[in-house]
Amino acid sequence: MINPFPVLPEFEYIRPKTAEEAIQFLQSHPEQARPFLGGTDCLVALRNRRISPNFLVDLKYLDGFQDVIFHPHDGLTIAAAVSMNEMIASEPVKMTYPLIAAAAREVGGYQLRSRATLIGNICNASPCGDTIAPCLVYGGMLAALGPDGKRCIALKDFFLGPGKTILQPNEIVCSIRFPLPPAGSRGKYLSIGRNALGDLAIAAVTILAFPDASQPSGYCFRIALTAVAPTVIFAEEAQRLLSQTPLNEKTLEQAALLAGQCCSPIDDIRASAHYRREMVRVLTGRALQQVWNALQKDVQQEGGNG
Ligand SMILES: Cc1cc2nc3c(=O)[nH]c(=O)nc-3n(C[C@H](O)[C@H](O)[C@H](O)COP(=O)(O)OP(=O)(O)OC[C@H]3O[C@@H](n4cnc5c(N)ncnc54)[C@H](O)[C@@H]3O)c2cc1C
Repeated sequence: MINPFPVLPEFEYIRPKTAEEAIQFLQSHPEQARPFLGGTDCLVALRNRRISPNFLVDLKYLDGFQDVIFHPHDGLTIAAAVSMNEMIASEPVKMTYPLIAAAAREVGGYQLRSRATLIGNICNASPCGDTIAPCLVYGGMLAALGPDGKRCIALKDFFLGPGKTILQPNEIVCSIRFPLPPAGSRGKYLSIGRNALGDLAIAAVTILAFPDASQPSGYCFRIALTAVAPTVIFAEEAQRLLSQTPLNEKTLEQAALLAGQCCSPIDDIRASAHYRREMVRVLTGRALQQVWNALQKDVQQEGGNG
């Protein structure tokens, strides 16, 4: 198909010196100015006339926006302008939050990942944003800055629908913070696309599970589903079943079935709704099995060491 909009429309490039200056500019140009980081979503949307700002406000060079900070007791903070490649190469991300690194590796190709950011992926609020589900299962908290100062937003409360968030037009996201994952956590990220290289997910499943003595099954599971609802969602019924019922092959199968049933996918050029739902069941079943095997292995090793 011939692209009817092959060139970018004109816009003014704004490079604020401070985050406060960025906010001021956004506030004084309502509906005309838009913040951006890597621009990999923003510039495509601009070229396709899905957005038409007169000003693009570049947040990439702001002080502190390039940091990855890890405290062994407090957890991890990833600032807004950290690229996917920088994040994937970061030791704490690889070692302590491996699901974020695994999902980030699925985003586009290498060149794209040297521009694209985690915060851009989140703020774009696409239901198929690859890194959103891992950030949800690790309990991500966004730090936003606006005219009234800073506020923290739990990532689970951030999304309203495709491309829609609770962020005000004059607010920016400065970073995302993660607590340490619960002790004994094991996880898996599985996704399926039309091809292995750089296509958006047809469906993806992210699971984080950990021992939890307060649950009847002895475990707590967080299961997040990508590209199968208007936003990335938790498979709540499946999570409940896995925490309340003794864990065995049958429980895992039932949980996978519940995950498939809880989503509301669309038919589109990538896949039918039916196929997506089926893939959620299959991927959830596979991921649960692998996570459960890892959790059991940990128990055996602890028994052997004790
Ligand atoms: C060829 C190609 C392949 C792709 N493949 C994938 C893929 O496989 N998986 C995937 O998930 N995505 C994919 N994407 C989409 C995109 O690369 C990602 O969503 C990326 O992470 C966006 O990050 P960015 O920094 O480029 O965001 P930008 O384009 O800079 O911004 C994205 C949106 O967020 C807003 N925004 C940015 N920063 C802030 C902030 N700090 N505060 C408030 N709002 C902000 C912008 O206004 C814009 O609406 C692909 C894109 C392309 C062009």
